[in-house]
Amino acid sequence: MAIVPLIPITAANCFADLGMLAATQTQDAFQRAPKPKDPITEHWLIQANAQGALGTLSQAPPHLILEPPTTSCLFIGYWQQKPVYLQPIEVMETAELIPWRTWFQHTDSQHFALYSTCAQVWHWWHEHIFCGRCGQQTLIADHEFARICPACAHTSYPRISPCIITLVVDGERFLLAHSPRFKTGFYSTLAGFIEAGESAEQALRREVYEEVGLHLGRLHYLGSQSWPFSHSLMLGYLAEYQAGDIRLDEEEITDAAWFSADNLPLLPPQFAISRQLIDYYLTCIAAHRQ
Ligand SMILES: [Zn+2]
Repeated sequence: MAIVPLIPITAANCFADLGMLAATQTQDAFQRAPKPKDPITEHWLIQANAQGALGTLSQAPPHLILEPPTTSCLFIGYWQQKPVYLQPIEVMETAELIPWRTWFQHTDSQHFALYSTCAQVWHWWHEHIFCGRCGQQTLIADHEFARICPACAHTSYPRISPCIITLVVDGERFLLAHSPRFKTGFYSTLAGFIEAGESAEQALRREVYEEVGLHLGRLHYLGSQSWPFSHSLMLGYLAEYQAGDIRLDEEEITDAAWFSADNLPLLPPQFAISRQLIDYYLTCIAAHRQ
């Protein structure tokens, strides 16, 4: 059997936890929407850069400010139905700057979307201060994340790089890999960037063949996650194993092996889509065994 029956994805199972399904979004969640037309008298503020945000673990950002935002702040959307602003800060080492990964571990999935946006918007804000075509200082557009050159009209948007991420499955077993960057005993799903001209599915088959030498059958798209390290959009799939023996690309991967629900290595944190793919399939296996 190539795959155990997939259970429907609902708000009640683990895969919906990251807010991947529109149905699970609440009004209080972080939302992108046009800037308010009326004068702003209070706003949420988050002071951050690509590494992290200011705050204390007992008081996670954003923080409510009972004043209009200053001109150095960027409107990024709505938080609990009030406007939320990013104040970009320079790269610095300070005890108050808490890394994004720490925030992700101490806050819920609604914060993940907000923090992910801040980290990526900071990159865009920082990298396009000057026009990439003519060198003029750029201006920030009012209605979208765009920096526009007043001299040549060249426009720069935040970079978003699509990636595939996949759990290769074969009946009740699934393939996980260990990269040289991982700590000992830690395994994750396979992932890679989509190259120019490729569909997500072509990229997925190519990456899996390059990294572990396996051929795949059917692919099942499950959901996506914006991953701010540094600008990836992860497209998550289950991929059915079809043929081949594991053969490693040793520059990328130092080990890959089949695991089962009864034999799990150290896994990625709950907030990562890699873990969500694994947990979803474990839920399917448990349902199938009943
Ligand atoms: Zn220009």
